[in-house]
Amino acid sequence: MAIGRAGSIFGFCAGVCATSVVAASLWASSAFAQGGAAALAYPVRPITIIVPFAAGGPTDVLARVLGEHIRADLGQPVLIENVTGAGGSIGVGRVAAAAPDGYTVSAGHFGTHVANGAIYALKYDLLRDLDPVALLPSNPMLVVTRRNFPAADLKELVAWLKANPGKATAGTAGAGSGSHIGGAFLANLTGAPIQFVPYRGTAPAMQDLVSGQIDLIVDQTANALSQVRQGSIRALAVTAATRLAVAPDIPTSAEAGLPGLRMELWNGMWLPHGTPRAIVDKLNGAIVKALGDPGVREKLATLGLEGPPAGQRTPEALAAFQKAEVEKWWPIIKAARISAE
Ligand code: ASP
Repeated sequence: MAIGRAGSIFGFCAGVCATSVVAASLWASSAFAQGGAAALAYPVRPITIIVPFAAGGPTDVLARVLGEHIRADLGQPVLIENVTGAGGSIGVGRVAAAAPDGYTVSAGHFGTHVANGAIYALKYDLLRDLDPVALLPSNPMLVVTRRNFPAADLKELVAWLKANPGKATAGTAGAGSGSHIGGAFLANLTGAPIQFVPYRGTAPAMQDLVSGQIDLIVDQTANALSQVRQGSIRALAVTAATRLAVAPDIPTSAEAGLPGLRMELWNGMWLPHGTPRAIVDKLNGAIVKALGDPGVREKLATLGLEGPPAGQRTPEALAAFQKAEVEKWWPIIKAARISAE
């Protein structure tokens, strides 16, 4: 930023005011030196991770598990702030507009950092206004219903949805969230509309599913599995190619009769665009260490969160993957007419 400003002073003077050019370049190099020193010292104060969904939900839990490890590694408190609403786009917007100093981090996933761009007229550009830090583990979705929903398996659910178009209510974390995209794909595959009920995250949606206020959620395994185990909701299928190691009794969507319903919700972390590379690398290093920690790995595995492979943990890998996902999914989401209404 300092270099950019000095550059524009040079352009304006165009050789007439040589003194100000020298002054400007001295100012620029000392500002750059300060920026470099700040990057080397980072972090010297608490880091805030903005989770764009409700506390206790899957994005929140992942950020807290990693945040705890990052705190121990970097020696500064890591605060989690839940800035919710509009499918996570309010929280992501907060980070896109924050100072690029490494102290405001965006936690998000396929929904917030890919799908939202196809659904909302965002005030920020998902690929240009945020600098990728690291790709985080992925989570397949579970199709879960309230305990007393009249469908014993996925085939019966599909038959019920077709016989009762527009009657089923599905909880989501807002338009453009993972649960909304998953539910919309289920509706598209069955050809029968579903009423979506938006929440500020799937933690509050899950409370309403457990109490029978809504009929179903296509929810992250991380959020749904403990309720399935307690018997307070029912799991009809997992949207993965193979059954989950941690829940081998739940059939895959292909086994349950709907092979098209495949979805993995990958997660990631980003910083505001323009963050010094040394800061991005330091945060990336702390995240990579956290992902390699056996205790963290075990905690995440019990939630059905896996990967990414070691070679995919760099900022460049996330940048390339996110761009490829935007190119792949925006046309699909738009063609499927998945919208905020
Ligand atoms: N990840 C969830 C979703 O997009 C929301 C949440 O974390 O609460 O459905």
